[in-house]
Amino acid sequence: MERVFNFAPGPSMLPLDVLETAQKELLCYGSTGMSVMEMSHRSKMYLDIFNDAVEGLRDVMDVPAGYKIMFVQGGASAVFASVAMNLMDGGKADYIDSGNFAHNALVEAQKYGEVVIAGSSRENNYTHIPDYTLSPDAKYVHITTNNTIYGTRWDHIPDTGNVPLVADMSSNILSEVYDVSKFGVIYAGAQKNVAPAGVVILIVREDLMGHELPITPKIMSFKKMADADSMVNTPNCFGIYLAGLNFKWIKKMGGVAALEKINIEKAAMLYDFLDESKLFKGTAVKKDRSRMNVTFVTGDPDMDARFVKEAAAAGLVNLKGHRIVGGMRASIYNAMPVEGVKALVKFMKEFEAHNA
Ligand SMILES: *Cc1c(COP(=O)(O)O)cnc(C)c1O
Repeated sequence: MERVFNFAPGPSMLPLDVLETAQKELLCYGSTGMSVMEMSHRSKMYLDIFNDAVEGLRDVMDVPAGYKIMFVQGGASAVFASVAMNLMDGGKADYIDSGNFAHNALVEAQKYGEVVIAGSSRENNYTHIPDYTLSPDAKYVHITTNNTIYGTRWDHIPDTGNVPLVADMSSNILSEVYDVSKFGVIYAGAQKNVAPAGVVILIVREDLMGHELPITPKIMSFKKMADADSMVNTPNCFGIYLAGLNFKWIKKMGGVAALEKINIEKAAMLYDFLDESKLFKGTAVKKDRSRMNVTFVTGDPDMDARFVKEAAAAGLVNLKGHRIVGGMRASIYNAMPVEGVKALVKFMKEFEAHNA
């Protein structure tokens, strides 16, 4: 059986290189005589793997000193709550409502403090990144750098002055270079661009720890998790191992900057075609187009459904848009090779020739 080009939004494609290494090491990791899945998380053999992953991420993302890297659980959705519990500190927070997950994050935060919606594109069905006005006295500002469902991306990092900037980077972490020093907190569910589901990357500036609400569960306290080196309880050992393999792959590919160049190229191939197509139309406002999730429609839901079905038969799978927006979405994370995007554009051209 041949591997398909999997355009799923998450869980999504992993680099073949990563999967093959994991396969090779599955039964016996190094000279340990056991699988990574069977190791104690407190054992020296596992701690080496864990520390390798932390250092690998610090290296490829250029995370400065003064920031703690953690791997936590509960998905990005759990961090929606923990961000508010750890940072709200009796004050208020600015949230930019740029998509479904951004909205979920602010709804969660409302349970723990005052949320100010500093900007929203909800009325426009989230087809663009909204304008915003920030509160000078906010405890933090929350953004979602890439909106997975709607296919939009922030083309700049807002200047928040002394107010810490918190970013949900679930669907574009490590796909482009970010200056980590501009952020107070960065978090990302691994299942989009890094590893299998069940691991969340959490990077926190150290001075922002230790101010959590008393109700904060121990496993959601940034300070306690940092002090325990992500091991307040048993972490997702195998997922973290795979994340570590991915960081090594990124390094081998030339780093995040090299991948960013390829990602820009891949996205441009699709958008250039969409812009001249007589059948397909991109749904996101041009300026804010995502490089990771390319959303498009034909305008006819029956035709959309037929496209998704015929594409799958041709080995281009999971192109159906999210259930709340319909249409199509091609998720083209780091692991999607240029050939996959080329094959998709070719297929779209043929489909158009037969159906326009
Ligand atoms: C997928 C996604 C989430 C939700 O992640 P879970 O790990 O399922 O909680 C949050 N934010 C963004 C931007 C996402 O793409």
